[in-house]
Amino acid sequence: MFPDLERLIRLQQLDAAASEATRVVEAIPSRIEALDAQLTAGAAAVDDANTRLSEKKSERAAVEKTLAAVQTRLSRFREQLMAVKTNKEYTAMQHEIATAEADVQERENTILEHMLELDDLAAAVTAADVALAGSRADIERTKAALQTERGELERALASTARKRTTLTETIGAPAQALFERISKQRQGIAVVEARDGLCTLCNVRLRPQIFNQVLLNTELIQCDSCNRILYHGPNAKSAAATTVDAP
Ligand SMILES: [Zn+2]
Repeated sequence: MFPDLERLIRLQQLDAAASEATRVVEAIPSRIEALDAQLTAGAAAVDDANTRLSEKKSERAAVEKTLAAVQTRLSRFREQLMAVKTNKEYTAMQHEIATAEADVQERENTILEHMLELDDLAAAVTAADVALAGSRADIERTKAALQTERGELERALASTARKRTTLTETIGAPAQALFERISKQRQGIAVVEARDGLCTLCNVRLRPQIFNQVLLNTELIQCDSCNRILYHGPNAKSAAATTVDAP
């Protein structure tokens, strides 16, 4: 194989690896932000549950206070009932007592309802706490893994950059200039395989004499359509990422 072509294929592989690693590294901060947002939401759910519980407790305390006042009034009416002199007073007092008794009953019912609601609200606080603790452990683990991944990728990127520098020192200036120009114009992909008579990136059918020249791998031949440098790799995979769309 033409030495510069072989080196350009390798250069393309290094660029593809660097571009993929860069893409992953650049996505890490937003992945960490999303995890932090999950934690914030979990903490807010715990706060909400605690707020609802303490509001209900205050509500119950207020009802209990009112109940105590009504019970005091009821006791006083019952004492006064002993001291009434007339039937009219007796009837009036009985009416007051009945009203106070209904009042007591109503507030006792409300307190029972509140007790059931408080049980549910306390259970909700526990559930929110448990959920937060569980997700916090998961999220901290995932964040630590992302930081490790970032470190590894950054080391890999530095190593790829060193390999690229070493490699480019061995490539002829015209070949390298051609590579860099196409790479800049074509989303970082300057070298692609030709297979079955087609450019594997833009899928254009090559003229037979061009494809025959490509099969020899003895010179730099460009795709008529996308201008990328073509090579024939009998068993090799495409040097370029196959997921990248043709322009
Ligand atoms: Zn092409």
